[in-house]
Amino acid sequence: MMQNYQAIINFIQTLYKTKEFLPLHEPKFIGNEKKYLNECIDSTYVSSVGAFVDRFEKEFAEYVGSRYAIATVNGTAALHIALLLADVGRDDEVITQPLSFVATCNAISYTGAEPIFVDVDLETMGMSPNALELFLEQNCQIVDAKCINKTTNKIIKACVPMHTFGHPCKIDTISEICEKWYITLVEDSAESLGSFYKEKHTGTFGRVGAFSFNGNKIITSGGGGVIVTDDETLAKRAKHLTTTAKVPHKWEYIHDEIGYNYRMPNLNAALLVAQLEQLEKFLASKRQLTKKYVDFFTDYENIDFFTQPKDASSNYWLQAILLQNRDERDKFLEFTNTHGIMTRPVWRLLNNLDMFKDAQCGELTNALYLQERVVNISSGVAL
Ligand SMILES: *Cc1c(COP(=O)(O)O)cnc(C)c1O
Repeated sequence: MMQNYQAIINFIQTLYKTKEFLPLHEPKFIGNEKKYLNECIDSTYVSSVGAFVDRFEKEFAEYVGSRYAIATVNGTAALHIALLLADVGRDDEVITQPLSFVATCNAISYTGAEPIFVDVDLETMGMSPNALELFLEQNCQIVDAKCINKTTNKIIKACVPMHTFGHPCKIDTISEICEKWYITLVEDSAESLGSFYKEKHTGTFGRVGAFSFNGNKIITSGGGGVIVTDDETLAKRAKHLTTTAKVPHKWEYIHDEIGYNYRMPNLNAALLVAQLEQLEKFLASKRQLTKKYVDFFTDYENIDFFTQPKDASSNYWLQAILLQNRDERDKFLEFTNTHGIMTRPVWRLLNNLDMFKDAQCGELTNALYLQERVVNISSGVAL
């Protein structure tokens, strides 16, 4: 087995043409990054007002096919505001998946709401529409066009599926279920820029979508995020909430509610505009990498390489394999991380973290299955 693992390392080192320790996903700055950063500094507009922020929002909205985009300091802030736009607050509940990065659930908690976890699909690693529907049928009822959780008597206001590692979940079916149950769909598309489901960009199925541009994402602004929506009222509200709820005025400082300092600085937007110009190139490179992995892993009976689900075009943000069981997973992690290649297991399930351990859950069979087997392998753009 260890010989097999060494062969995997050799293969990856050839792909990336390096023998140095290889991080999981390194950013690439090979376009206009320095040029735009210099322009931004020379303009003196380095903070949260500036031409690059406006330009980024316009170009991003165009790329994903959304009417409005509102840039934020990070993806968690984008999700937090997205949930506020969905009118989520104290005493509400939000359905999400246990297999996700902690930010999904942190954002829910910032609003004062409680999370509920339903299972993921084995084909997508994202929220399972069947698990969602089953949970609602067994635990909820509709009263006055609201979804009431019969166990807690609270309103389930929103549902937050996540497109795991960039693979689109069955978002159209999830959207239909949410509509039927009067639940607002908020998409955590933090990982899925460049991923489409039935030709429509992820993040644009819900009332609101949120993306991240953290250093490890497919494109980065250092730190950054964006909210997308087709609803003009929500877009205006997003801008208002992210800019300390300041009432526009030439000199007066009047704020009409408690807002947030969540606007993306122009400096970060300058970097991001340059990164967005290279997205197509990055996507092509990742698809090539996937092809090579698929060919390579066909010879490995005990390892499944994860490929995009049906009806989806995935950005393959993080490449993933499934080992036979937890023991094999741990051996693989130990061997690769001590022999020059960074690999990592999928996140600890959110319902197993201390702060969310009392949350209500559906059956989580698939999430548990994946947690024991999934490992992310080298995914950076190799040019
Ligand atoms: C990266 C990420 C976020 C947001 O992350 P930030 O670091 O705050 O930009 C949210 N959800 C998921 C699933 C993520 O992977």
